[in-house]
Amino acid sequence: MSRLVVVSNRVTLPQKSGDAPAGGLAVALQAALEERGGIWMGWSGKSSGSKEPQPLDMRTHGNITYALTDLTKTDVEEYYHGFANRVLWPICHYRLDLAEYGRKEMAGYFRVNRFFAQRLAPLIKEDDVIWVHDYHLIPLAAELREMGLKNKIGFFLHIPWPPADVLFAMPVHEQIMRGLSQYDLVGFQTEHDLDNFGGGLVREGIGERLEGNKFSTYGRTFKGGYYSIAIETEEFARFAKKAYNNAIVRKARQSVEGRDLIIGVDRLDYSKGITQRIDAFDKFITLNPAYQNKVTYLQITPKSRSEVPEYEQMQRTVAEQAGRVNGSVGTVDWVPIRYVNRSVARPVLAGLYRLARIGLVTPLRDGMNLVAKEYLAAQDPEDPGVLVLSRFAGAARELTGALLVNPYDIEGTAHAIARGLTMSLDERKQRWEKMMEHLKVYDINRWCDDFLKDLASA
Ligand code: ADP
Repeated sequence: MSRLVVVSNRVTLPQKSGDAPAGGLAVALQAALEERGGIWMGWSGKSSGSKEPQPLDMRTHGNITYALTDLTKTDVEEYYHGFANRVLWPICHYRLDLAEYGRKEMAGYFRVNRFFAQRLAPLIKEDDVIWVHDYHLIPLAAELREMGLKNKIGFFLHIPWPPADVLFAMPVHEQIMRGLSQYDLVGFQTEHDLDNFGGGLVREGIGERLEGNKFSTYGRTFKGGYYSIAIETEEFARFAKKAYNNAIVRKARQSVEGRDLIIGVDRLDYSKGITQRIDAFDKFITLNPAYQNKVTYLQITPKSRSEVPEYEQMQRTVAEQAGRVNGSVGTVDWVPIRYVNRSVARPVLAGLYRLARIGLVTPLRDGMNLVAKEYLAAQDPEDPGVLVLSRFAGAARELTGALLVNPYDIEGTAHAIARGLTMSLDERKQRWEKMMEHLKVYDINRWCDDFLKDLASA
């Protein structure tokens, strides 16, 4: 089996004892790397003022070598905060209104990709298979090819891919598509994203979609596919069962005694639909006054990307909105919304999911959404809760037993909450079992194996 080289913006280093457990993706990639031997390269997270690149920080653990590169402050500003998070992220989440194109940032993005390639190329052996992750590194294969590398190179996009009309608003869309064409396999989360990609190529007149999800463009033929990312289902389920008796979860349980818990867990991001969700909860209480003092909505939302102004603004908006709803529908002995603005440890999170009667996952657009899968895996098989899920999350294409909602339809989401709270045990079990069976088969290891198998044969 060929050696595997994984490249991603950030690298998850091996866990030290006492560290929080790594997420499913990191564990699966580490397992694949350990089995085949390989390298995981990415940004160290450090930035310096010096223009002179520091040597790569190389650390070997077992069969894996971690290769970390520093970036300059300008690189981080332009490549990461600038183009990746202020152009590609909003565009791929269909938010043309939030994209800010600056030539300096666009140039910085391509420059840092070249820099990554220059640092990576000397580490590559002839038959290594390279797997590049996510929107930060789309042009990496093109840079490596220019340096003469002929290796198999695959790319997986963790976020959605937009339809042609949205994509074409981005001034460098053609370079981005040309970049993708240099891979041997381009993987998306869903068939819908893959179709958007194919549609864009054909609409722009730069490519053709051939039989078997092959594409031909810029003189190359390459494969496309879709691979829905997942979690370590069985392990998470075991973890949640144990976590139910964790001291913090026990306290939370006592504090909601006699009420149903509704849970929302998301990074603070405009794609997650948090303000619409709070409006829907407000509407639910207004339409169903019998639920006053009978439910608690817990929204756990750590801050993210505070350097980007939209995110900073959102922090204020969500906090004010939660306060406003608590003020208007709350009573002297009932705070309807508990808004927690920080990250919680994974075992606690698992236990809280299990405690919640409803998992409220209503992004306006999401590549997959792992919270939906974690919520399901954490449920008690004898008394599972109900997943209320946005039809615009990639996960909605698999989790058909959820109550699917359009998050822009505030009343529709409010009705789904009410329906979830009154659903019979039989129906809850039936829906949950069907989804759980799927998640047990299509877990994170299956995702990883399917992609690598297709890359090997691409
Ligand atoms: P995204 O990758 O866009 O943030 P996902 O739902 O796919 O969205 O993945 C989010 C991951 O982050 C999940 O594994 C979830 O458990 C974790 N997470 C989100 N919010 C928190 C939180 N408050 N505390 C701990 N982990 C969190």
